[in-house]
Parts: sequence; C-alpha cells; structure tokens
Amino acid sequence: VLLDGCRREGVLLENDRLVTSIESDADGATIDVESGQRYRARLVVGADGLHSTMRKYFVDEQPIYSGFVAYRSAVPIHQVSERANREDVQLYIGPGIHLVQYPVRTGLMYNQVAVFRSDRFIAGEQDWGTPDELRQMFAGTCAHVSESVGSLWTDQRWLMCDLEPLDSWVAGRLVLLGDAAHPMLQYLAQGACQAFEDVAALADCLGRHTPDGPKDQELLTKALKEYADLRRPRTAQVQRWARSWGDIWHTDGVGALLRNELFARRGSAEYRETDWLWGGQSPNGLGSD
Ligand SMILES: Cc1cc2nc3c(=O)[nH]c(=O)nc-3n(C[C@H](O)[C@H](O)[C@H](O)COP(=O)(O)OP(=O)(O)OC[C@H]3O[C@@H](n4cnc5c(N)ncnc54)[C@H](O)[C@@H]3O)c2cc1C
Repeated sequence: VLLDGCRREGVLLENDRLVTSIESDADGATIDVESGQRYRARLVVGADGLHSTMRKYFVDEQPIYSGFVAYRSAVPIHQVSERANREDVQLYIGPGIHLVQYPVRTGLMYNQVAVFRSDRFIAGEQDWGTPDELRQMFAGTCAHVSESVGSLWTDQRWLMCDLEPLDSWVAGRLVLLGDAAHPMLQYLAQGACQAFEDVAALADCLGRHTPDGPKDQELLTKALKEYADLRRPRTAQVQRWARSWGDIWHTDGVGALLRNELFARRGSAEYRETDWLWGGQSPNGLGSD
C-alpha cells in the first residue's frame, strides 16, 4: 500500500543508500551516503528508526535495553493448533513472560510473539536472550502456550529497547519521525501506529503552512514547530505507558494478585484506562473526528 502510494505521488525511491552524515544550514541540508553521493534538500525527515543516524544530530545516546527478548513467527492459519483463537487477539501473561497471538492478513496468517525477561541479561552476561533461555522461561506453562512457543522461529530475535522522550525533534531543516523520534517498547503495539500518526500530522502541518513547498524558512519553522508540539506529548506518554504496561503484564507476587483482581472486576467493554490513546483523538491531534 505504501509503495503504491509513493509511486502514485511520484516519490523517487532509492535503495542502498546508507546515510553517514547530515548537515543543516540556512537554506537546507546536505546528506552524505556511504557510496559517496551527496544530496541537497530543503527539508530532511529522519525516519531511520531506533538506531537513527539523524537522531545523533539531536542527542547522542545508546538504546536502553530492557532485558526482555522477543521471538516470533507468522504462519499460514491452517497450520495453527485447534486450541488457538483464530478470530481475536489472545494474550497469555505470567511472571517475566508473555505470549501474544492474533490473525493477520484478513485471517490468512497467524502471528505470534513470545517475550521473556532474560536472567542472563540481569547477570551481565554477553550472550543473553538465546533460544535455550526462551525454552527455560516457558517451561511449565500450559500445553497450548508451550506448544506455541515450540513453533516459534528461533533464527531471529529482538532485544527489546527504547529511549527517553526527546526535548526537541526539529533543528533548522531537519525533523524526526517514527522510531527515530520516539522509540518505544512494544507492549502497547504502538511503534508503527505512532509513526503513521506522525506522518498524518506532519503532512497536515506542512500542507497548511507551506502549500508551495518548504521554501520560506519562517513558514517552515512554524509548520515543523506545530508538528512537534502536537506529537511530542502524545508519543512521550505512549513511550512511558508502554514501559508500565509491560511491568503490569510481567509482575509477580502481590502485584500479580492485585492486577488479577482488578482485571477480574473490569467489564469486557471497559477501556477507560486506554481512552487517552484509542478513545477518539484524531491522529494529528487537530480535532475529535
Ligand atoms: C517484536 C516487535 C513487535 C512490534 N509490534 C508492533 C505492533 O504490534 N504494532 C506497532 O505499531 N508497532 C510494533 N512494533 C514497532 C514497529 O516495528 C516500529 O515502531 C516501526 O517499525 C518503526 O517504524 P520506522 O519507520 O520509524 O522505523 P523502522 O521500521 O526501523 O525503519 C527505519 C528504516 O531506516 C533505515 N535506516 C536506518 N539507518 C539508516 C541510514 N543511516 N541510512 C539509510 N537508511 C537507514 C532502516 O534500514 C529502515 O529501513 C514492534 C516492534 C518489535 C521489535
């Protein structure tokens, strides 16, 4: 869908361009890529993810590892066990672990993600989050969960990390978007969603303030400031909540007792805790519809 959209709009896509440096000046920015080319642009949108090169222009910091690891797999729906819920999102939680399963691609595929806290990470070991640890952490879970975990791909894993919210996303003609601006833990399933909300807001702000393109520095500054002011508070809240959400799922002892009691008392249609996220605010924050 995105590729088709780019082609329709006449966007020139160039692959294999590793950006090594970006310099902003009064009229635009200069971008150098590893293969030696140099580009000039009037506006640069840094959407280069968690390990963003452009973010280093704003602040130089290393991702914060949470010590949790994810393994996943996506399989054709007919390969899924009879015990799986093929219609809805299914989440199993326990101390230091969870498994989430849900249908994707209009029900043709089934996605599953298992996440666990690595004791080896806590012990300071280099090789942490291995398939062995995955199996150990899920040993003793119910038949459906252990069977599902056994069917995960083990050739790739994701070491879960995030960063603190940034004070600024705009520097002259440079602006950040998506994980480059607000990398978050995945517990609210919001990383890509927030990136899309950023895009909607940025397009809206640029369209209103600079309909003829980013020529006028004053108008551009206004548009970029409005975009960042709209998006920074919301994405910072998602970043912080995602951490707490993971803590709620993975807690043990008294915390787990209280959580279970609270969950048991909730009606199945009660969403007030997450209304601020899903309850009616438009993606660009500009209205209610
Ligand atoms: C296990 C897991 C589960 C997740 N589940 C969900 C979910 O359910 N829902 C959800 O919304 N999100 C989820 N996410 C988060 C989501 O994947 C990310 O938030 C999203 O991909 C961020 O998009 P992005 O375009 O900002 O960055 P990315 O997808 O990271 O894209 C950045 C791009 O920039 C390129 N790049 C990087 N550096 C350079 C450079 N120097 N030069 C040129 N190119 C460069 C990279 O190659 C990459 O193509 C999950 C993440 C994980 C790890």
